[in-house]
Amino acid sequence: MPEFNREKRFKTRSERGTLAIAETIAEMLPAPRVIILRGDLGAGKTTLVKGWVQALGAGSPEDVTSPTFTLVHEYQGRKTHIYHLDLYRLETERELATLGLEEMAADPAALVLIEWGEKFESVVALARAEVAMAHLEGDERSLDIRWQE
Ligand code: ADP
Ligand code: MG
Repeated sequence: MPEFNREKRFKTRSERGTLAIAETIAEMLPAPRVIILRGDLGAGKTTLVKGWVQALGAGSPEDVTSPTFTLVHEYQGRKTHIYHLDLYRLETERELATLGLEEMAADPAALVLIEWGEKFESVVALARAEVAMAHLEGDERSLDIRWQE
């Protein structure tokens, strides 16, 4: 498992706040990079991706929907190719192998954002950052970012 040597914590009070923080995070964690997005259902992982896609000029927040059933969605930004994965429904490394994650990670312009990536050792081994989101009270969320420069 790669060592993360940097960390930073954010708090937001609204969905809009999370979209705004995504802009800062997008600057902190440029491509190429595989990033695991952790947190319970409703923590705000997909919402963060909406802001991230917007920050990189790859679309507006409404363009981003959860890849829970489709597994992978792609967005082309000004310089970055964003892959958004949700592995919640995936059960085995075997099913994961069909998605071509290694090819995505090998793309020098790629940012691979993976919800529920911590379920799979092979994803953890590729990850160069993680964002752990937690639901505090009401619309408050915390975001703990750990990464490798
Ligand atoms: P996940 O992908 O982690 O399951 P989603 O981003 O799909 O979570 O859903 C988060 C839900 O919580 C959305 O309905 C969103 O409107 C709501 N929400 C409320 N406050 C926030 C916040 N501060 N950040 C992100 N989402 C929030
Ligand atoms: Mg989600």
